[in-house]
Amino acid sequence: MVTVEGGDEVLQEQVFDACFFFMRELFSSQMMKNLKIKIILNDDLYKEEDIYGYCEPEVSSSPPRKFEIAVYTKQRPSRIIYDLAHEMVHAKQYATGELVDLINDETRWHGELIDCNTHDNVEYWDAPWEWEAHGRGHGLGAKWKRLRKRAQWRGEKVIGKL
Ligand SMILES: [Zn+2]
Repeated sequence: MVTVEGGDEVLQEQVFDACFFFMRELFSSQMMKNLKIKIILNDDLYKEEDIYGYCEPEVSSSPPRKFEIAVYTKQRPSRIIYDLAHEMVHAKQYATGELVDLINDETRWHGELIDCNTHDNVEYWDAPWEWEAHGRGHGLGAKWKRLRKRAQWRGEKVIGKL
């Protein structure tokens, strides 16, 4: 189940469609049935928290199936979709158990314990889950954009501008 909050109707619909496309790319159909994703379109995220998006798993089940994803919206629609793809990759990492946030800022990545706080001091750009989210997220965003262009050529109604 996917819900989208915030933003205008056009953006909401575009984000909703993109989210389903990314889900089909990232998750098995069985897992898709059990996922609950709440997307919050936020105009102030960058101003208030200095970030473009986040993906927060609800830890009531392990691996998690419920996610809150926020995306900063005061940017080009295509950037919003790329940022959504990035956060969806993180949701995939959590849902498959590849990425597990532990207490004390520790993280488990593919079974390996990575201490983000002390000696390993993993910075944002050094974190392997960010490499994947940036690389795969970019690829998914590009695929989505191409699909929409093709739909437009076929004369299908495409919502919003990308
Ligand atoms: Zn990230």
